[in-house]
Amino acid sequence: MRRKIIAGNWKMNGTLAETEVLIRALLGGLPPNSRAQVVVCPPFTALETAARLLAGSPIALGGQDMSPHEKGAFTGDISAAMLLTVGATYAILGHSERRQYHAETDQLINAKARRALDSGLSPIICVGETLAEREAGMTEQVVGKQVDGTLSGFSADDLRRTVIAYEPVWAIGTGRTATPEMAEAVHCFVREKLVARDQAAAQVVPILYGGSVNAKNAAGLLKQPNIDGALVGGASLKADEFLTIIEAV
Ligand code: PEP
Repeated sequence: MRRKIIAGNWKMNGTLAETEVLIRALLGGLPPNSRAQVVVCPPFTALETAARLLAGSPIALGGQDMSPHEKGAFTGDISAAMLLTVGATYAILGHSERRQYHAETDQLINAKARRALDSGLSPIICVGETLAEREAGMTEQVVGKQVDGTLSGFSADDLRRTVIAYEPVWAIGTGRTATPEMAEAVHCFVREKLVARDQAAAQVVPILYGGSVNAKNAAGLLKQPNIDGALVGGASLKADEFLTIIEAV
């Protein structure tokens, strides 16, 4: 059975005071014995506060990005060791907002993922097509290229420690969600790409869906056989909504 993961991407939201309120609300409402591994990814500045509040809880912590470099003259960047030192175990890599606003390429995301794995972090690698690409019938071509590029050089063992998030760009923060069937079709396609790399490892890689997931649509999406969880943006900032998504698992 594959791990079920519900990850919250807070993006550029979360002062220390807001972080404390949200984490306390999540801890207070977390369903006991949940089958989901819950991950929260606050901004870098809130990681230590979040880690202190989450100590001893089953909720894991992740960064929203990470440098491919070990350390040194990379102003503004955060290293894998820095994430590890605050207790993060996951790193979101290649989010479409990083691709769009920071010109991240599959090659760079691959280097970041390599560094994450070598450092002991699980990368959550994001892939997904734009609306124009979907309408041009290019979804599989685009997503396939992103999967091949970001996972380049991965061994079966690397794959086993990797999480993939399929996030159609047109569904992120827009309120437009892929239907469960549309999402499942792409998840199946991604799974096939993984099978071509390693049959056994492909079966354990969680493939999360992301794009306007909320309390209302989560259950339908999570029922699909190849949707192993969700990467949640906006709805992860509302404790009630995020907890309902966790309960849907
Ligand atoms: C995201 O940022 O990864 C995301 C899926 O955002 P939202 O849920 O707000 O669409």
